[in-house]
Amino acid sequence: NRQILLKRRPVGLPNESDYEVVTSPVTPLEPGELLMRNDLISLDPAIRGWMSADEDSYMPPIALGDPVRSSTLSTVVASRNPDYEVGDLVLGLNAWEEYTKLGDIRHIHSFATKMPKDLGVPNTWLLSVLGATGMTAYFGLLYVGEPKPGDTVLVSSAAGAVGSIVGQIAKLKGCRVVGIAGSDEKCRWLKDELGFDDAINYKDNNNRELLGCAIAKSCPEGVDIYFENVGGYFLEAVLDNIAERGRVIICGLISQYNEEVGSGPENIWKLLVKSARIEGFLIRDYVEQMPEAALKIGQWLAEGKIRNKVDLHTGFDNIPASFLKLFSGRNQGKLIVELEFD
Ligand code: NDP
Repeated sequence: NRQILLKRRPVGLPNESDYEVVTSPVTPLEPGELLMRNDLISLDPAIRGWMSADEDSYMPPIALGDPVRSSTLSTVVASRNPDYEVGDLVLGLNAWEEYTKLGDIRHIHSFATKMPKDLGVPNTWLLSVLGATGMTAYFGLLYVGEPKPGDTVLVSSAAGAVGSIVGQIAKLKGCRVVGIAGSDEKCRWLKDELGFDDAINYKDNNNRELLGCAIAKSCPEGVDIYFENVGGYFLEAVLDNIAERGRVIICGLISQYNEEVGSGPENIWKLLVKSARIEGFLIRDYVEQMPEAALKIGQWLAEGKIRNKVDLHTGFDNIPASFLKLFSGRNQGKLIVELEFD
C-alpha cells in the first residue's frame, strides 16, 4: 500500500519535503473492518487547511505522520463488515493512499457511504457535480444567497469546480451571472460554454481598485449576491459594488490558504450603508437535505441544463503536483486524480 504522509506542516505552498512516500503491507482485517481501494482521489483546497495546525477549525488538522486526508471514491476489496460486500462503491474521507482500512486509527474521520452503481454517469461525477462540489454550490447559492430572478450574481473562482456550478444554477434561477477567473480562456469558456452573461479576468485587474472598476462595468446595478471563493482584495472590490440588501456568501478564501491571514475587509462599513449581509457556511451543515439536492442536480444534468467539467489526472505519483494546480489556477472544473491498479 503506497501512502503519502504529511511529514511537516507546509509554510506557504506545500512542496516535496513536506511529504514522505512510504509503502507498507495491508494488515489482515479484524471483524467489522473493511478494505477500500481508492480509485479516485478528490483534490480540494480545504486539504491545504487541514495541513496547518489551525486550532479553531471545523475539523482537526492532519496529524504529522498520517496520510494526507482526502475525499475519495473507492471500491470495497475485502470486508469483514456485514453491511458491505466486495465490489461495493463507497464515497469516503480517506487519504492519499492506495488502500484504506475503515476502522484504522489513522482514519478516525473516515466513513464509507455506499453509492448506487447503476446511475449511468461517470464515477468522477460522484466526487464532483453529484458530490460535495455540486452540494456546496447548491446550498451556498440557494439556501444562503436566496437568489431571486433578475438578481446580479457575481462568482469568484468561477471556472473552478464549485464556481462553475454556482453560475449555472444562478442562470437557471433567472439571475444575471458574472464570473471572475484567472485567464481569458477561462472567461471565454464561462461565457461561450456555460452561459455566463459576462466574465472578468482578475489577472488584468489585480488590485481592489482595478477589479472594483471591472465589477462596476459588468454589474452596473451593483452586486446582489457575491459567491466568495477567493477573499483578500476580491472581497473589498465587491463590497465597493454591493447592492442594496446584497448578500455575500463566504464559501472559501483560497487566496489566503497559503499565507498568514491579514486583517478583514477595510470597507466592511459598506454592508451597513447598503443593509447588506455576509454569511459563511459549511457543506456539512446540510447533510439532511443532500438527497433532495442530488435529485435536483441529477435532473438538471439529465435535461442538459447544467454541464459538469472534470479535470482528471492519472497516477499516484502525480497527486502532490496535481494538488498545486488549485493554487496556480491550472485546473478548470473539478480536480481529481485516478489511481491505477493492475
Ligand atoms: P477550484 O476548482 O475553484 O480551484 C481553485 C481555483 O481557485 C483555481 O483554479 C484558481 O482559479 C483559483 N485561485 C487559486 N488561488 C487564487 C488566488 N490567489 N486568487 C484568486 N483565485 C485563485 O476549487 P473548488 O471549487 O474545489 O473550491 C472553491 C472554493 O470553495 C475554495 O475556496 C474552497 O475552499 C471552497 N469550498 C468550501 C466548502 C464549504 O463547505 N464552505 C466546500 C468546498 C469548497 P483562477 O484561474 O481563476 O485563479
